[in-house]
Amino acid sequence: MRDNEWLEQQLQILLKNHFANVKITNPIQIKFGREAKYRFGSIRLVSHKGIRSIKGIKSIKGLIKAVGDDTPKKSLITVTSMFAKEDVPADVVRYTIAHELCHYAHGFSSMNKRMFRHPHHGGIVNRELTQRGAEHLIREFKAWLKGYRKAILAARVKI
Ligand SMILES: [Zn+2]
Repeated sequence: MRDNEWLEQQLQILLKNHFANVKITNPIQIKFGREAKYRFGSIRLVSHKGIRSIKGIKSIKGLIKAVGDDTPKKSLITVTSMFAKEDVPADVVRYTIAHELCHYAHGFSSMNKRMFRHPHHGGIVNRELTQRGAEHLIREFKAWLKGYRKAILAARVKI
């Protein structure tokens, strides 16, 4: 089984090989999360202190202060725990991470300048990946997704 450390290694390799010119405006954390059938990855901007700091807040004013712009932020990438299994090709997981890094680069869920109106506007993610020399990851992901969808449909038919 792959673990969070493995994810971190993949993140660092992808950053080095394909996103070296992207400004790291806030730190990036990566972890395996809830197993989801169709949502393989996500990125969100969270307060450095996380949920624990929210607990002690008694008022809306306090909440706004705590999550205000002066709070240090980090981008948290969550990858479905389904991808911890070794039978999912490593490039499929790498595609998922690289996809989220495109959002980071485009200013979604990061402190970078927002470059587009919507995170998936007109195929901007795959265009970005292609420009960054990661086209092979798109191919691997698409091929895997095709088989995965088929397997899910086949399982449904049986029921
Ligand atoms: Zn996306």
